[in-house]
Amino acid sequence: MLSTLLLAAARSRRTRDLVTSVPLTRGVVDRFVAGDDLDAAIEVVRELRRDGLKVTLDHLGEDTVEREQAAVVRDAYLDMFAAFEEHGLARGADASVKLSALGQALDGALALDHAREICAAAGRVGVTVTLDMEDHTTVDSTLEILGKLRVDFPWVGVAVQAMLRRTAGDLRDLVGEGSRVRLVKGAYAEPASVAFQGKRDVDRAYVRGLRILMRGDGYPMIGSHDPRMIDIALALAVERAPSSYEFQMLYGIRSDEQRRLAEAHQMRVYVPYGADWYGYFMRRLAERPANLVFFLRSFVNR
Ligand code: FAD
Repeated sequence: MLSTLLLAAARSRRTRDLVTSVPLTRGVVDRFVAGDDLDAAIEVVRELRRDGLKVTLDHLGEDTVEREQAAVVRDAYLDMFAAFEEHGLARGADASVKLSALGQALDGALALDHAREICAAAGRVGVTVTLDMEDHTTVDSTLEILGKLRVDFPWVGVAVQAMLRRTAGDLRDLVGEGSRVRLVKGAYAEPASVAFQGKRDVDRAYVRGLRILMRGDGYPMIGSHDPRMIDIALALAVERAPSSYEFQMLYGIRSDEQRRLAEAHQMRVYVPYGADWYGYFMRRLAERPANLVFFLRSFVNR
């Protein structure tokens, strides 16, 4: 119930204005977001790399409704790749991209063009790109754009959400040789007609997804902080070479576990940065009510 309210608030302009206008919010946001600008993000990437962690960097932003803004987002990614190269951090790095930030809802062809430019620039410096998955209404379009991108850039990956009823079918189509697929539980409020609702059903669907991924010929990316899902993934991966899959977690969540897993496995941290942190932050609050308590306490204790 609380998480549904928070996810609805994540899409409300009025709540956005309220939450982002309070300076104190920043302290809590900083736990999940690497900073407002690329310099701050590069500093975080450097630290994570020092600790043996890989990264996927996300320039925050979503639901772009103006063509000019979509071009600004594309340019932010081009700057990101230049910075990766300048600081010697490009090797093994990945960029996470939300197609809605590139104008997907405005014009699918525009989002595809921008995504192509991003992939071409990433490829030149040896960085891979992974498409985030957003709410269920965008899945067909995202998979279609993925297919087009993979013709020229076969290393482009995608996230799929276990909570969606369609995902097992999507996964079967996606696990061919060379594919890179990140399995996550799903962070959006979705109706029961398209998505499993309770944690138990979502977890079961996640395990089904893991089985399909691990039996497939692609490169599984296990995006979860859930110790049970991680143990099951490890059990399913016993026959696989450690270099043939990786774990992924979000910046600021179970950081000690990230480092522990990195000792024996490939571990990648999803690092978001940028001023447009509102939607991302609200989804993190929705995932764990304790985060909301922490957030509210920072107001009471001021
Ligand atoms: P849960 O059952 O939610 O959590 C398991 C445990 O992890 C919790 O008990 C808690 O200890 C810890 N935990 C989880 N979330 C939090 C939190 N916010 N704060 C503190 N502790 C927490 N979703 C999408 O819809 N599309 C995407 O493209 C996408 N990309 C992602 C990329 C990565 C690398 C990761 C790790 C997640 C991504 N997600 C994405 C979010 C995902 O869908 C889940 O909402 C999120 O990962 C929480 O699910 P969980 O598997 O960690 O399990």
